[in-house]
Amino acid sequence: MLSSLAGRHVVVLGAAGFLGSHLCSRLLGVGARVTAIDNFITGDADNLAALMGDERFALVKYDVTDYLHVAGQVDDVLHFASPASPADYLRWPIQTLKVGSLGTHKALGLARAKSARFLLASTSEVYGDPLVNPQPESYWGNVNPIGPRGVYDEAKRFAEALTLAYHRQHDLDVRISRTFNTYGPYMRVLDGRAVPAFFAAALRDRPLPVYGDGSQTRSLCYVDDQIEGLLRLLVSDYVGPVNIGNPEEVTILELAEAIQDAVGNHPGVAFHPSPTDDPKVRRPDTTLAEEVLGWKASVDLTDGLSRTVDWFRQQLAGR
Ligand code: NAD
Ligand code: UDP
Repeated sequence: MLSSLAGRHVVVLGAAGFLGSHLCSRLLGVGARVTAIDNFITGDADNLAALMGDERFALVKYDVTDYLHVAGQVDDVLHFASPASPADYLRWPIQTLKVGSLGTHKALGLARAKSARFLLASTSEVYGDPLVNPQPESYWGNVNPIGPRGVYDEAKRFAEALTLAYHRQHDLDVRISRTFNTYGPYMRVLDGRAVPAFFAAALRDRPLPVYGDGSQTRSLCYVDDQIEGLLRLLVSDYVGPVNIGNPEEVTILELAEAIQDAVGNHPGVAFHPSPTDDPKVRRPDTTLAEEVLGWKASVDLTDGLSRTVDWFRQQLAGR
């Protein structure tokens, strides 16, 4: 199904991050040529080290909120640039708003100039603290625009609106993924999200830091499933947001238990205050993805965590 990507020139924005690095590697694997662009605010060129020798791969350090130029023909623009961990976007609120607004504008401008296909990495955070569970794409969300998370949620909501405006006004061929919590190798140990924080604590034999009472839920998708869903969306002809995630919903306390089991060490948990506007539930309705992409997640949480533990073990070994 992804064979149609062979020979295409794909520009990946935010390529040195967690998802971006997996995307680049998979795209090369299916025969595409990749130009990777990143300013390394939350990413790391080391994530792309294994791809550097490939003549079909180029990495450029650049801030995508500035005018974007890429020489020659471009077939696809994949916009993954944005801080994505709550800790990161609380630390970089203005950069987060800028990359979701100005950066999306530049990315769409590049796609339009090249008559390229465009994919926006949007997020389940557009649903905010949802009042319906699971969330279908038709749900408009429950977002606090002026709370600390609003910088990310509203930037992505604006990015979706701008993407569809380019489609309606300029007939640009666009795709929008609403990606739900994804985890796996190449996550930064210190990026602040629950999965890395819990692995790091369990591996160091320290209590896992649970925010709130741990009864809030998330639905976690293993990265290989996520990348398959994203690329199927890209090659589909579906315009409009599609949830890409794993509907297996767990409480954060259950996640903490599962990560201790994966590590084989059980230091227990320590409770910390809940962050402002932390969503209480989150689970994708993936009916649309199943219908239009023929895709659903296939790696369950236990399997995905066991595929991830070695990455964090290696990351902590040198510290
Ligand atoms: P990440 O922080 O690992 O990667 C983001 C990358 O974007 C980093 O390499 C960073 O340096 C780069 N970047 C940020 N601002 C930039 C700018 N102005 N110019 C150039 N590069 C810039 O995060 P991730 O988890 O890989 O997320 C990637 C994308 O997917 C984000 O857009 C995020 O909103 C979206 N997403 C991710 C998840 C998830 O669970 N990982 C869930 C929903 C949505
Ligand atoms: N969380 C936690 N401990 C941490 C980091 C996060 O208990 O060290 C909680 C967080 O409050 C949220 C859930 O885990 O309820 C998922 O948080 P994460 O940052 O991974 O993703 P998001 O909030 O964006 O879904």
